[in-house]
Parts: sequence; structure tokens; C-alpha cells
Amino acid sequence: MKRIREAIRDDQAPTRVSASKPWALIVVTLIFAGFVLVRFVAFRQTQPDGVGNQVMAQVPNRYQPERAMRYLQEICKIGPRVTGSPGMQRQRDALARFFQELGGTVTFQNFEIRHPENGESVPVSNLIATWHPNRPKRFLLCAHYDTRPYPDSDRRNPKGYFVGANDGGSGVAALMELSHHLRDLPDDLGVDIVLFDAEEFVWLQDRDDYFLGSKFFAQKYLAEPPAIPYQSGVLLDMVGDRELKIYYEGNSLKYAREVTTGIFRTARSLGGSAFVPRRRHVIQDAHWPLNEIARIPTTDLIDFDYPRPGFGAPSYWHTEQDVPANCSGQSLATVVWVVHQWLLEQSDELTPKG
Ligand SMILES: [Zn+2]
Repeated sequence: MKRIREAIRDDQAPTRVSASKPWALIVVTLIFAGFVLVRFVAFRQTQPDGVGNQVMAQVPNRYQPERAMRYLQEICKIGPRVTGSPGMQRQRDALARFFQELGGTVTFQNFEIRHPENGESVPVSNLIATWHPNRPKRFLLCAHYDTRPYPDSDRRNPKGYFVGANDGGSGVAALMELSHHLRDLPDDLGVDIVLFDAEEFVWLQDRDDYFLGSKFFAQKYLAEPPAIPYQSGVLLDMVGDRELKIYYEGNSLKYAREVTTGIFRTARSLGGSAFVPRRRHVIQDAHWPLNEIARIPTTDLIDFDYPRPGFGAPSYWHTEQDVPANCSGQSLATVVWVVHQWLLEQSDELTPKG
């Protein structure tokens, strides 16, 4: 995904200074520098290295952090899963078998794109796993499952080895864990898990297109609307961070406010501090085509601060540091718990909280 910008909070609104008043510029600069220093000191004090993950107090046993982490490790063990690569093919086959064993019906949306470097044809394949297709209330749960060709934000080795544990692996691992709970949904609920390919077939930033898989899916949905449309969608991206903090994402509030605030309300009712109901980043992610083209109100649950929010914090995003060791099964299980509980709340049946 691409970050558009950091959401500007009210207390950080930019101050306009006239060029004819240089003293005003100096005063504002000093105030700003003081503000930054205070924030930085506060951050250093509250975020010692190796800080534990204060997520949900008690994730119930039926959501299994170790199992979710094992899924993430197995995915990463395949190696890079770049669109059209042998690694992607292996992952795709393994996931199809996995979802089928848990009662899902697996289909693919296949199409081809041109490689932006050499013009060759590259096969692209969205994976769709369906549970209870004829039920009246259907939901879309999605993630991308391809990985970026290179860790191009890595200062030391931008052409290095990119395994995409959080960016590419975590959404898949979370949906694998969640799929253990989809056979037993209340009688009015159905789910499609959709894994998008070619989200990050980006060999050169600012030249190559993002979200080709979700764009294709959205266009197909618009051209051939299903008999029972989705009520809404939930996109999971970068949900494995060991220090999980998920904030409202700007485009999710814009396009899918009800879904977004609903999920954060559910998170609040379950306790813990991993979901923070405050707007932070604005991200252009796979939810954009779903909202803009297919008109499926879709929220993006994303912890874009990897490893942690705060001024001066490092970022593992698109670097060789995006590895399983920087992720946690506890974080994955927390997100699965919240999304599953929110899903159950969408049922009109009186079901005990499962
Ligand atoms: Zn990415």
C-alpha cells in the first residue's frame, strides 16, 4: 500500500506565517522545536526498547496466537511471493488446500499483466474462498498475498531479500486463523475471504501501478454484480506488528465510517489498547478500488507504524526487517478476535457471543 500522508490532528495544524514578519517565523519555529522535543522525550520515556505488546487483555482460547504465528512462519518460509513467481504459485496452492479443508469453496480470478520492466506477460490470480454463499448477509474479508519485489525502503540493502512478514504475510495468516470460525457462523451470515494478487508488483516507485488484483476484483463486481451483494468489507494489512496499535485510517472513515467505527466499538467492548479510535494515517490501499469502483463500504485495519508510533521511531516497512521475528501471534489473534466478534454482531439472530 501507499501512504498518502499522515493525518493532521488539530493540535498540529500548520500555522501560516507572513514573510514580512520574520520575528513571527522565529517564534513559531522555536515553539515548534520545543513541541517536537517534548514529544520526542515523552516518546523515549514511554517506549523503551523491546517493550511488550499491550494488546487485548485476554484473547479467548479459541483464537490461537501460536497457530496464527505458525501460519505466518510457514508463509514466510516459502520466501518471496512476488506476483507470477514460483513462491506465489506455491503459496496459492497451499492456501487453496487450506481453505478447502476448513469448509471453504475456493475459486480464482485469473488475468494477465505486463511486467513493467521487460514487457513479458505475468499471470495474476486472486484467491476467493467462500463460506455460505446463499445467506442473506454477506461480508468480504480481504488482504493482499503478494509481496513487493524488493525492500526498496531499506537504507542498507534496497535490492535485498524481502519476505514481507507483516506486509503481505500478516493479513493472510490472520484470515487463515479466522477461517477456523467460518463454518459455524450464525444462519444469516456468509463470508468471502479474498486474497488479492499484484497489489505490490512495483519495481519502480511512482512508475508502476498498485492494487491490480483488487482493481480487477472491483471492476468484475461492478460489471457482474452478485445476487447477494456484500454488506461491507474488512481489509487486513500489517496487522502482525509486535507492538500493535491500529488507528482509524483516513480513507476508511471517508468511505466506510459505519463499518470502521463499528469495529473499533467492538474492540473497545472487548477491552485492551490495540485499537485506538483516532484518525492517524491516510493510506491508499486495496480498499480504495473496493470503495470507489465496487461501492463496497470497506475499512482498512492497518498498523502503519511498524514497529511503533512516535516521532523518530524506526520503520520496518518495505525493509529487510519485515520478518516474522518482528511480528507476534498475539497481535494476529487479537485482530482475529475483534473482526470475528464484530462479524457475529452483524447477525440478526440472537446468538450467544461465540
Ligand atoms: Zn507494501
